[in-house]
Amino acid sequence: MIEIIKDWCKGCEICVIRCPVDALEISAELNKRGVYPPKLKEENECNFCRLCELLCPDFAITVIPEEEGEPKETKSRLIIGGIVNEV
Ligand code: SF4
Ligand code: SF4
Repeated sequence: MIEIIKDWCKGCEICVIRCPVDALEISAELNKRGVYPPKLKEENECNFCRLCELLCPDFAITVIPEEEGEPKETKSRLIIGGIVNEV
């Protein structure tokens, strides 16, 4: 889950540009600062890497990882020597 405090966003778009899986887009709703904050795309590939949270200069994003034991469904899994690699 991703929480975005919309009114803290200044619309720099760093999170949208830097998301490695293109999971974010600019919303159509103006915030109190007069800019359009980001939102998760309806169909998104967010992998909870936290890059957007770490890069946001205004601390507007908090990434909350999914519960342990409930891994996100991925296209395939390769298990090598007890280490699970997503491929
Ligand atoms: S947590 Fe990572 S994958 Fe998800 S929206 Fe942020 S940068 Fe993109
Ligand atoms: S990085 Fe932060 S301030 Fe910039 S658009 Fe994203 S949420 Fe807004």
